[in-house]
Amino acid sequence: MTQDELFKVLVAHCKEYGFIFPSSEIYDGLAAVYDYGQMGVELKNNIKQYWWNAMTRLHENIVGIDSCIFMHPRIWEASGHVGAFNDPLIDNKDSKKRYRADVLIEDYLGKIEEKIRKEVEKGRKRFGDSFDEAQFRATNPNVLREQAKYDEVHNRYKEAEQTNDLAAYKQIIVDCGIVCPISGTCNWTDVRQFNLMFSTSMGSTSEGANTIYLRPETAQGIFVNYLNVQKTGRMKIPFGIAQIGKAFRNEIVARQFIFRMREFEQMEMQFFIKPGTELEWFAKWKEQRMKWHVNIGMGAENYRFHDHEKLAHYANAATDIEFNFPFGFKELEGIHSRTNFDLGNHQKFSGKKIEYFDSEENKAYTPYVVETSIGVDRMVLAVLSHAFHEEQLENGETRVVLSIPAPLAPVKAAVLPLVKKDGLPELAQEIMNDLKYDFNCQYEEKDSIGKRYRRQDAIGTPFCITVDHESLTDRCVTVRERDTMTQERVPIDRLHEMIEKKVSLNVLLRNL
Ligand code: ATP
Repeated sequence: MTQDELFKVLVAHCKEYGFIFPSSEIYDGLAAVYDYGQMGVELKNNIKQYWWNAMTRLHENIVGIDSCIFMHPRIWEASGHVGAFNDPLIDNKDSKKRYRADVLIEDYLGKIEEKIRKEVEKGRKRFGDSFDEAQFRATNPNVLREQAKYDEVHNRYKEAEQTNDLAAYKQIIVDCGIVCPISGTCNWTDVRQFNLMFSTSMGSTSEGANTIYLRPETAQGIFVNYLNVQKTGRMKIPFGIAQIGKAFRNEIVARQFIFRMREFEQMEMQFFIKPGTELEWFAKWKEQRMKWHVNIGMGAENYRFHDHEKLAHYANAATDIEFNFPFGFKELEGIHSRTNFDLGNHQKFSGKKIEYFDSEENKAYTPYVVETSIGVDRMVLAVLSHAFHEEQLENGETRVVLSIPAPLAPVKAAVLPLVKKDGLPELAQEIMNDLKYDFNCQYEEKDSIGKRYRRQDAIGTPFCITVDHESLTDRCVTVRERDTMTQERVPIDRLHEMIEKKVSLNVLLRNL
């Protein structure tokens, strides 16, 4: 199966097993808006819990807040979103489809990179142990030709980005012969700027109504509460404020399932520091955030940093943590050193002094900020796409299994009476009643045990607990493990301890 096909199968699987549904589906859906089903919400809550506890419980100097989606409209002027939260868009006149001009160019560059990578792999195979990659890249004519093409387009693209030159974007698209994937033509409109914020009005009469925006990031809710939290929490710099909440962006192109949605959720933490220490903290948070990811167990090789070449006007360092999604390495989290841009601007726009008095230095200053910002939905997609496997079994059947890291799995254990009679359901219910306070469990008595195992594999349940006739006398049950499919006879009174060891979020947290 190609990665593309695999992605389609995964999307279908998410719907079939109650993870993710298209929003308003009975009305044919709403573009780039998705709902979480009974399994999806559990997975999402576990991810949020892991992040929240890692931030707030493991750091005495980080506290959480929950600010509103609606905020004073001036906030978005101060933050720069009214003036500059734009994407360059372009339409294909034949297909009438809309694209982000920067994404079209980046995809084109990605294809050249892929060609070079394949060429290098061919060389590696041909020369075996004596292969010298640096020399190959410096001398192979195919690689040199592609690299020169890449460098030329990349330089023009970066220049267009820096100078915000919309005509230059279009010229690159035309010169490279980039076509619309739907119509296959190069019949493009000019490139225009498009503001990504959704607006609505607040107030009871249309004359007296104010235009307000749905927040495009949660961070500003933290900045405008900086003074409240610092004072009431008697926080001393360095300290952080964490928040999980919805954000809204009117994305131009939203065709990658929950990777790019118009309504999504962010987990953001703003860390307030002394000016001049920001690069040190930036390096620390880069390391800590990567550790948080790798600790989940999805393979360190599936993550990489991508340092920004072009920095936003307020930032003096920025990097993305990229994950190896089915459509390639893409941004999962951003880490930015934002200087005192946000607090400074809120001070200017609100007229309120936003400063910290540093008693050690005996002076007041506007703190600098390093932020970490991760999309919950992108994290859900990372977990699901990494977990999804189709396996060929020895008996010729295929099993679809979601190998979700056990602490994040929606259901931790399924309790299954072998048959629906002879007192087995009663004993199974007794086990359920004991486990349900600590673990999300499912009780299932319908269909053969094989079918029930398959259903649990498909939602990623780490343990299946089968109650059989012998259980009535020996008080033991058969525990089947999801990934290895091994079965073990376990006394009922040891179940709790056995499950806890594998599924506890605390085990993950202790590793950090
Ligand atoms: P991209 O370049 O992919 O549009 P971004 O750089 O605009 O992302 P940030 O503004 O840094 O993203 O937002 C922080 C995080 O929020 C991102 O790393 C991502 O995980 C998440 N995020 C941003 N936009 C979306 C979206 N439309 N849908 C889902 N998650 C998103």
